[in-house]
Amino acid sequence: MLFKGENILHFGRAKMKEMRRKMQIIFQDPYSSINPRMSVAEIIAEFMIVHKTHPGKKAAFQRAAELMDTVGLARRYANVYPHELDGGRRQRIGIARALSLDPEFIVCDEPVSALDVSIQAQILNLLMDIQEDRGLTYMFITHDLSVVKHISDEIVVMYLGQCVEHATSDALFENPLHPYTKALLSAIPEPDISMRTKEIKIIKGEITSPVNPAPGCRFAARCEHTMDVCRKETPPLLLRNAASRPGETSGGRHFVACHLYCGENSPT
Ligand code: SF4
Repeated sequence: MLFKGENILHFGRAKMKEMRRKMQIIFQDPYSSINPRMSVAEIIAEFMIVHKTHPGKKAAFQRAAELMDTVGLARRYANVYPHELDGGRRQRIGIARALSLDPEFIVCDEPVSALDVSIQAQILNLLMDIQEDRGLTYMFITHDLSVVKHISDEIVVMYLGQCVEHATSDALFENPLHPYTKALLSAIPEPDISMRTKEIKIIKGEITSPVNPAPGCRFAARCEHTMDVCRKETPPLLLRNAASRPGETSGGRHFVACHLYCGENSPT
């Protein structure tokens, strides 16, 4: 598990504590990921106090108040408890807490999926504004493809714990290669159904056991293109030559793990 070229799994406790200041997380569920017995200000200030980033608690609480401004949470909420707030405000507490150590990298684990649709856009726009201001890197985990398209520069599509496709956002949406990615993109809801031009690809079949997966491609039992080799050999993730097929326009890096493309590719 590499961060800036260093394998963080080899770090000891002290080094890991130092690294945690650079890497933070925003959790999916704003209801269970914050301590209900602490006030808003205490939650936001806690990491700064633990990591001794400020000269004393007073300075940490002053910084917590500034972070409340940053995430659009009125300072009058500083002394209230999480249960007194709605989901959007609670998620703003989670964002302020993640920012409190001035990290370089934040894992956003489905940060808007538990929120009302009207609040989702506010939180996404807030995250993007903060990213622009602070030059942050996000790893944004989501099942919502319209969110993916809105927020991502680069996308990794996972299936049962394996990367099946990796490309820039534009390349992936313009020219999806893996059958699973194609099915996912075809299922993005179209607000005006009369504007839908693409057929929805229904994925049939059973999901292979994630604990004891069948040999070969993990998508084989559900793929409409399954070949003999798919049931025997796990397809490697290969760099796809975007120019090798007429009509395909994806630029930049584009990797896919599928036997349909093996033989045309160069290894990663
Ligand atoms: S490797 Fe075979 S089964 Fe897997 S996605 Fe590609 S074509 Fe389908």
